Amino acid sequence: MKILVINAGSSSLKYQLIDMETEKVLAKGLCERIGIDGSKLTHTPFGKDKTVIEQPMKDHSDAIKLVLEALTNAEYGVISSMDEISAVGHRVVHGGEFFSKSVVIDDNVKKAIDQCVPLAPLHNPANLIGIEACEKAMPGVPQTAVFDTAFHQTMPREAYMYALPYDLYEKDKIRKYGFHGTSHKYVANQAAEMLGKPLSELKLITFHLGNGSSVTAINKGKSVDTSMGFTPLAGVVMGTRSGMLDPAIIKFIADKENMTLEQIDTLLNKESGVYGISGLSSDFRDLAAAANDGNERAKLAIDMFIYSVRKFLGEYIVVLGGVDAVVFTAGIGENTADMRAAILNNTEFLGIEVDPAKNAEAIRGKQLDISAANSKVKTLVIPTNEELMIAKETAELIK
Ligand code: AMP
Repeated sequence: MKILVINAGSSSLKYQLIDMETEKVLAKGLCERIGIDGSKLTHTPFGKDKTVIEQPMKDHSDAIKLVLEALTNAEYGVISSMDEISAVGHRVVHGGEFFSKSVVIDDNVKKAIDQCVPLAPLHNPANLIGIEACEKAMPGVPQTAVFDTAFHQTMPREAYMYALPYDLYEKDKIRKYGFHGTSHKYVANQAAEMLGKPLSELKLITFHLGNGSSVTAINKGKSVDTSMGFTPLAGVVMGTRSGMLDPAIIKFIADKENMTLEQIDTLLNKESGVYGISGLSSDFRDLAAAANDGNERAKLAIDMFIYSVRKFLGEYIVVLGGVDAVVFTAGIGENTADMRAAILNNTEFLGIEVDPAKNAEAIRGKQLDISAANSKVKTLVIPTNEELMIAKETAELIK
């Protein structure tokens, strides 16, 4: 069975064709500048050089058609006909309170995704356009929606409610939703496999640390709390996002700096985080190099990131009443031994002991147990694979 995974943005469309028997990516690619001058498709068949196709794509339907042509092309294609694609799995950012798991798409599902547009105004409309373009180009092929928020729908009320007047929750659905759900769920499943125990017996804390970062407390396979909130702005310090702050700061900045709410929203999402603190970069590789050269603000940015992540470790150990394993994933979590060591520094009293040699050994793309031999709590590095998770959920749904 072959599943096409689609992640549609407002002017882009990423795809992967995955063979479910081997779980291998047969081809992947990206359509850029859809609806804009200079649109192009970069297509990479497994084990071969990429092909760049520069061709106008006036909308997502054109993009999907081009993707299907690339996948079936005699020279750089990987399947002989479109009929080999059993289903299409779509990444959808926001499922609101409608979806606690992945679903096969029908008209009602599309209506619900549309109703969540106010909650994700940049992402959900693009996801819907991607779905409709695929429906048009591949009639009769089942389409599924896999939501970033769905995994966190198991949080208890006291975890997801904000202490605002209750009618704002009822009327406007203001609550914590959480994001990166597909990634947290994927690494939790992998962790259970690595530990040789059923998820239903495990307490896990998963650290998805990338450009956007979030931490999740998982009890018996269910998300019970997560660091992102109503939007992906909340929680830990991120590349360009502020993470948690005193909400009173917003009015203070508006008054003092004479800024509109729109401008402050941009400031918090795009100009803050380690980028805002360092004034240098949102990329931890640049920051580490600068800190090494004595740049104090780069060092401060890194220290703030580590501190904010560590606090969630403490919080979630209490939330879970203990922890069996902590899991690191995504760009920073998978690649930076120093950062993992700093986040878990002085946590031996909690039963967390990392083997420094194993920690240094972990490289991107490989799962590894980096715990010291006698550590009560396991520390795992697990590369995330959201596309594979979307494909697996899709395969399960169409069985
Ligand atoms: P992601 O969003 O998961 O792709 O992660 C992207 C972030 O991971 C980048 O902004 C970097 O800060 C960080 N990153 C990726 N690779 C490395 C590396 N080798 N060393 C340090 N940081 C890295």
